[in-house]
Amino acid sequence: MGCELTKSKYCKGLQCPKMLWLDEHCPELGEAAASQSVLDNGTKVGELARGYFGGYDLVEFNADKNKMAERTRRLMESAENIAEACFCYGSLFCAVDILHRNGDGWDLVEVKSSTEVSEIYLEDAAFQYYVLKMCGVAVKGAFLLHIDNTYVRGEQLDLKGLFVLEDCTETAAGKFDEIKGDGRLEEMLGYLNMPAEPQRDIALYCDKPYPCAYKKYCGKDLPEFSVFDLARMQAKKKYELYHDGIVSYQDILNSGAKINASQKRQVESVVYDKPDEYNIEEIKKFLATLSYPIFHLDFETFQQAVPEFIGCRPYEQIPFQYSLHVEYEDGRLDHFEFLAKEGEDPRRALAEQLVKDIPMGVCSAAYNMSFEKTVLKHLAEEFPDLSRQLMDIHDHMHDLMVPFQKQYYYSKAMQGSYSIKYVLPALWPGDPELDYHNLEGVHNGSEASASFADMTNHTPEEIAQMRENLLKYCGLDTYAMVKVLKKLKEIAGQS
Ligand code: SF4
Repeated sequence: MGCELTKSKYCKGLQCPKMLWLDEHCPELGEAAASQSVLDNGTKVGELARGYFGGYDLVEFNADKNKMAERTRRLMESAENIAEACFCYGSLFCAVDILHRNGDGWDLVEVKSSTEVSEIYLEDAAFQYYVLKMCGVAVKGAFLLHIDNTYVRGEQLDLKGLFVLEDCTETAAGKFDEIKGDGRLEEMLGYLNMPAEPQRDIALYCDKPYPCAYKKYCGKDLPEFSVFDLARMQAKKKYELYHDGIVSYQDILNSGAKINASQKRQVESVVYDKPDEYNIEEIKKFLATLSYPIFHLDFETFQQAVPEFIGCRPYEQIPFQYSLHVEYEDGRLDHFEFLAKEGEDPRRALAEQLVKDIPMGVCSAAYNMSFEKTVLKHLAEEFPDLSRQLMDIHDHMHDLMVPFQKQYYYSKAMQGSYSIKYVLPALWPGDPELDYHNLEGVHNGSEASASFADMTNHTPEEIAQMRENLLKYCGLDTYAMVKVLKKLKEIAGQS
C-alpha cells in the first residue's frame, strides 16, 4: 500500500519534499527537533484544550485509520464536540484536534501550544478544511486555538482565558481551490512513494518555518568550518554566500566577501591558526569593576505552557534552583545552593533563601546576566516584601560575559561565540573537572528544566538521584564562572 499524506506530512512537504521523504523512509537520520519538555508541554495543552467547548467524545487511537474514521462518523450523529476526529479521503488523512458542532454544520479547531499564529498553522488548518470538505462534511468554520501569553493563572485554571480562538475560515476556504487544483497533493504523494530520496540542496527553507531535523545529514559534505559556522550572521546572508560558491573559510578570504570585523577575526584565526589574542588593558579595566567577595550566581528555570501556580503566566521562566559560589580575594570559596521541592511552587522559598545567602550591597556576578536579572525582577514584582533585597542583587550584578562579548580575549576555539559553552573549553581545554559531558543525567539547561518538571513522575529513589544530578550540574555552572574569572586574572597578572 502507498504512503498516505497526513496534516503534519503536508506541512513538511510544503517546507521541503526531501524532508517529507526522509521522515517516511529514514527518520533515524534526523536529530531530535524538540526537547522532551517542549513535547510534554504540547501534549498537556492538546489534552486540556479538548474541554474548551465543554464535554467531548474522544476518538481513541487505532492502528487502522478507517476504524477511527468510522467511529468519528458514528459520533457525528449525536456528539457536540469530538476530540481527534478522523477523516480519510483517498490517500489523505487528518485527525482534527476538536470538531465542534455549529448548528447544522461543524467547526474544525486546530490546537497549538504556541502563543501566536504562524503561516504554517494556517496551511495546516487549510489542509484539514480541504479533507473534511472532500469527505462531504458541512464545514462552517476553521479555527486555531492557541495560548494567550497575557493570561495570569488564578486559583482555578480558566480555559477561556488561557486560550485564544482565532477564526481562520476565510484563509482556509481561500486555499481550497489552490490545494485542489495546483497538483501539490499528487506531487507530495509522488515524493512520499519515491524509491530514492529526492535531490534538494540546502537553502533558507531548511530553517523556515521549522529548523529541519536533517540539517546534519544534508550538510554532511560541508567543510569542518563553513560559512554556516560564522557567528552573528543572518541565515539569509549565509545561504547567499553558499549559493555563490563561498563555502569554506578559505573561500571567504579568497572571495573578499563582506563580513564584519569579528567574523573576519573568527575566519582568520582558523585559516592562519592564530594564537589566542588579549587586550590586557581592557581586561584589567573590567576586573577593576568587581569587588570582593564576589557572589557568582546562576539560576535554573522551567516553563509551563499551562501555568500551575497562582500568578504565573504561560511560558514564564519559573526559577526552581540556584547555585552560588562566593569567591574571596584570597581565593577561598564558599558554596550555597537551593533546589525546590518537586511539584510545589518554588518561587517564594527560593527568593527567601536567596536574600539570606546574598547580603545587601555586595558584588554579584552572572554569565549572560540579562537572564538572571529578568528572574530577579520577576521575583521582586511577585514578592514586594523582598523586592528591596532582590533588586539590590539585581543592581549590583556584573556580567562575566562582557570580556568575551567584546573580544578582550579571543581564542579560535571560541568559534566567534561568547557563549560559556564555547568560552569555557577554550580557556581550560581538556579539563575534566569542567567538562559537562562527565556529569550524570543533566548536561545543559534544557535537561535541567525537563528533569525538574518531570520529577513528580518518579520514585523517591529516582528523585533523589535526579536532585543530586541537578545540584552537580548547577554547581558546575557557578564553579565555571569562578574559573573564567581566574583565567582573566591570570592574563591580567593578578593571580
Ligand atoms: S536539511 Fe534542508 S534540504 Fe535537507 S531535508 Fe531538511 S529542509 Fe530539506
